[in-house]
Amino acid sequence: VALCEAEAAPPARSGPRVVEPRFNWKLFWQFLRPHLLVLGAAIMLALGAALVNVQIPLLLGQLVEIVAKYTRDHVGSFLTESRNLSTHLLILYGLQGLLTFGYLVLLSRIGERMAADMRRALFSNLLRQDIAFFDAKKTGQLVSRLTTDVQEFKSSFKLVISQGLRSFTQVAGCLVSLSMLSTRLTLLLMVATPALMGAGTLMGSALRKLSRQCQEQVARATGVADEALGNVRTVRAFAMEQREEERYGAELGGSRSKAEELGRGIALFQGLSSIAFNCMVLGTLFIGGSLVAGQQLTGGDLTSFLVASQTVQRSMANLSVLFGQVVRGLSAGSRVFEYMTLSPRIPLSGGHCIPREHLRGSITFHNVCFSYPCRPGFQVLRDFTLTLPPGKIVALVGQSGGGKTTVASLLERFYDPTAGMVTLDGQDLRTLDPSWLRGQVIGFISQEPVLFGTTIMENIRFGKLDASDEEVYAAAREANAHEFITSFPEGYNTVVGERGATLSGGQKQRLAIARALVKQPLVLILDEATSALDSESERLVQEALDRASAGRTVLVIAHRLSTVRGAHQIVVMAHGRVCEVGTHEELLKKGRLYSELIRRQALDAPPLETPR
Ligand code: ADP
Ligand code: MG
Repeated sequence: VALCEAEAAPPARSGPRVVEPRFNWKLFWQFLRPHLLVLGAAIMLALGAALVNVQIPLLLGQLVEIVAKYTRDHVGSFLTESRNLSTHLLILYGLQGLLTFGYLVLLSRIGERMAADMRRALFSNLLRQDIAFFDAKKTGQLVSRLTTDVQEFKSSFKLVISQGLRSFTQVAGCLVSLSMLSTRLTLLLMVATPALMGAGTLMGSALRKLSRQCQEQVARATGVADEALGNVRTVRAFAMEQREEERYGAELGGSRSKAEELGRGIALFQGLSSIAFNCMVLGTLFIGGSLVAGQQLTGGDLTSFLVASQTVQRSMANLSVLFGQVVRGLSAGSRVFEYMTLSPRIPLSGGHCIPREHLRGSITFHNVCFSYPCRPGFQVLRDFTLTLPPGKIVALVGQSGGGKTTVASLLERFYDPTAGMVTLDGQDLRTLDPSWLRGQVIGFISQEPVLFGTTIMENIRFGKLDASDEEVYAAAREANAHEFITSFPEGYNTVVGERGATLSGGQKQRLAIARALVKQPLVLILDEATSALDSESERLVQEALDRASAGRTVLVIAHRLSTVRGAHQIVVMAHGRVCEVGTHEELLKKGRLYSELIRRQALDAPPLETPR
């Protein structure tokens, strides 16, 4: 099942998906089930409120009847005669308010709890997805499923129960009392109302379409803002504020004009429906009045009828608005549930672990072929074979885009090879527990270390959650980081800012090294770990890396060949294959690809290194 679902995942395309996922009722039921008791209570209260609402017009009619009597006759005491009725009405009003309060409180409790559960479940399942899934999706899109879509679903759910149930009961109840008051008037009403409702529904669906377009346009505008604010350094560095402003302005303009159009539509709808409602009142009064004149109906009954028919009309209008909300809520819900049921191809855990005392740390790539799932036609690795002997340093060099990082990703099991296999101590990585592999065996340090916006202590502890303070300090010392950390006034409690924005590149990298070392990995992958650094930082980082490399199986991916000279073995790769293997001296002697690369870098290097 997991395979099929993963295969059904769409390839990376920038366009929006056309196919809407279907709403998953089964999953919805699972979220609803814990709240059934409270939901039942809420429904009872809502029904109660609606039934009280049905009573009110009848009593109002009776009151009007008394008023009319006193207008005619002026005998007896109006107050005594109407006191009972008024008290009754007041009690009903109070009861109705109380019931409304009750069901709204219960509903909001259910809604909020369900929304929180859904968010937690969705977030947890999103985190479990394959890296390939994230290659194909925009982060903003995923975040909006967590926020906007859940929100929309929640409010639809609440509205359906509160408004829907209530309106429906009121329509039914009032229709009964209407027909008891006057069958003839009710029949007339039953002819006129559906015609008006039909017209209203037509207009409503046009408005809904407009509103959907409006939302999409708003989402596009938000996307632009999100990208610009999230990458503000790049925007600033290219002095692109103006262009980003224009881009946002253009999308915003689009959304504004759509929203205005929607506003005009809604205004027209409201204006027309107010005319229709008023005409209905006038019509009822006119026809009802002639019935009263013919002694077929009392004035009080006519009043009751008027109030009740207004209730019916209001409720039906509510129901038609609700219908649109239901459609939106269902589609938001199906978007939420879609990613809740997706299962990754590569699970987070499961499979066996090799006990630490038997672990040697020998890694082999056996005839590995690989293409990225989101770009299936493009083969990055072809028949790639490589052995990393235990405790030795192997350097992987080659052109940019040649597939070096891909090799590291396969080792971390971010992806599985399309063909061939990768083994650790002779065991296929696919049979080993991925969380053990990533959490305890492999330390990965990349070119652009990503830190989290918390303290230095917590960032290092990210490598091993149960590390003691001493272990953290030791790792920081090994990574050449202890000194600069303790020079900060807050020391290890310094908060590094979002993505570590308040640190220099070299400091960030040393924290990333400490984070990787704190788990005492047997295998270390260094993917261009120093290439983004200036030479002073590079020296500090390189020193830390050399120290960390001792006694570990190390894969050094490097662009600058000066950093790999000391490796036990240098592997030159090109076009997804291994081309040359040997030590620095052996490869130089061969005089082929490697010496060519060295020669080219030597040509490039002097202008960079001569001080001005
Ligand atoms: P290197 O690290 O040697 O510079 P990479 O392994 O990063 O090269 O990339 C190898 C090839 O794979 C490149 O052509 C690159 O465009 C492609 N590639 C890298 N990452 C992805 C990805 N996540 N999805 C699709 N293609 C990718
Ligand atoms: Mg790379």
